[in-house]
Amino acid sequence: MSKKILVLPGDGIGPEIVAEAIKVLATLRDEVDLDIDLDEALIGGAAIDATGGPLPDATLELAKEADAILLGAVGGHQWESLDISIRPEKGLLGLRSELNLFANLRPAILYPQLADASSLKADIVAGLDIMIVRELTGGIYFGQPRGVRELDNGERQGFNTLVYAESEIERIARVAFDIAGKRGGRVCSVDKANVLECTELWREVMMKVGEGHPDIELSHMYVDNAAMQLVKWPKQFDVMVTTNMFGDILSDCAAMLTGSIGMLPSASLDENGKGMYEPIHGSAPDIAGQGVANPLATILSVAMMLRYSLDEPAMADRIERAVDKVLDDGLRTPDIMSEGMTEVSCEAMGDAVTAALNS
Ligand code: NAD
Repeated sequence: MSKKILVLPGDGIGPEIVAEAIKVLATLRDEVDLDIDLDEALIGGAAIDATGGPLPDATLELAKEADAILLGAVGGHQWESLDISIRPEKGLLGLRSELNLFANLRPAILYPQLADASSLKADIVAGLDIMIVRELTGGIYFGQPRGVRELDNGERQGFNTLVYAESEIERIARVAFDIAGKRGGRVCSVDKANVLECTELWREVMMKVGEGHPDIELSHMYVDNAAMQLVKWPKQFDVMVTTNMFGDILSDCAAMLTGSIGMLPSASLDENGKGMYEPIHGSAPDIAGQGVANPLATILSVAMMLRYSLDEPAMADRIERAVDKVLDDGLRTPDIMSEGMTEVSCEAMGDAVTAALNS
C-alpha cells in the first residue's frame, strides 16, 4: 500500500527549499518505484493569511492520516504583531503536540568538504557526528500554569512551569538508548539536577532506564557544562538526550559547529515511528524569494524520512550519497560558499542532487 506523505511548505524560504526536496522524492518515486502519495496543505503564516489560523483543521486531519510529514519552515515579520496564541509558530507546536511527536532527533554532522565553514578549528570539528535527542512535547514550553500576572504591588510577573512525568522521561530515554545502540553506544543525559527538582527526577529515570541497557554507557552532564563542552571538545559526544528547552538551545549550538544551519535535517517522531521531518532552520525571511537558500537540510530531511518512517534505508543512503557527491563536485549555495567552489542557486542545487541520485 502506498505511503501518504503530507507536504507543508510554510513561509519564507519554505516553499523554495521544499520544492527541491520534492524533486528528489518524486524522482525516487518515478524511477525506482517508491510507492508514495504526496499531498500538500497550509501551515503557519500562509495558513493565517488564507484561513485566519496557523493550523487549519483540514491540515491537522491530513497530518493525522499521513505516514510522514515534510515541513519547510514557518514564520515571518508580517505575523510578529499577532497575539502569541495565533502566531505561525503555534501551528508547528500544535502539530507536534497533536501528533504526539515527542522525540526530536537532530544530527549534527560535519561534512568533511565543509570543515572550513565551522567557526571552530578544523581539528576540533573534523569528523563530528553527534545525535541530539530532544524531548519535544513536554517541559517548560508546555507546562501549566503559565502567563503574565499582576502582583499585589501592581508589578507584572511572568511565569512558566517546568514539568516532566516519569513516563515522559522514560520514553525519550528509550529512544536515546535505542539510537545509541545503533551508533557509538554512548548516551550523555543533560540536566540541571543541582538546581531543578524536575531534572533531578529526569536523572533518576535516565539511570533506571539505563539499567536495562547495560551495553550502553550512560553519563550525565549539567546543561551549562554541556554548552561549554560542545564548543570545547564536541567529539566526546555520541548521543545527547535532554529536555525540550535545553535541547532547543544545545542543538542550535551543535548546529553551528558544523558551519551552516542550511545543512542540518531533523526528525520528530511519535511512539510508532510516524514522523515530521524538517530542516532545523527557520523561514529565513532575509533571503526569501531570492533563490539563494540552501535546500540540502530539507533534502537530507527526506533521507531521514525514508530511514525512520518509510523503512527505506537504502534510498536514504542514496540521497545522502548524492548530497556528498554535489559537495565533492564543489557546488555551494552562498551560505556555504568558499574560495574555489562554484556558487549555485537553490534550484540548481536541487537539480544537481536529483541528477546525482543516479550516479
Ligand atoms: P532562521 O533560521 O530563519 O535564519 C537564521 C539565519 O540563517 C538567517 O541569516 C538566514 O538567512 C540563514 N538561513 C537559514 N536557513 C537557511 C538556508 N536554508 N540557506 C541559507 N541560509 C539560511 O532564523 P530566524 O531568522 O531567527 O527566524 C526567522 C523566522 O523563522 C522567525 O519567524 C522564526 O520564528 C521562524 N523559525 C521557524 C522555525 C521552524 O519553522 N521550524 C525554526 C526557527 C525559526
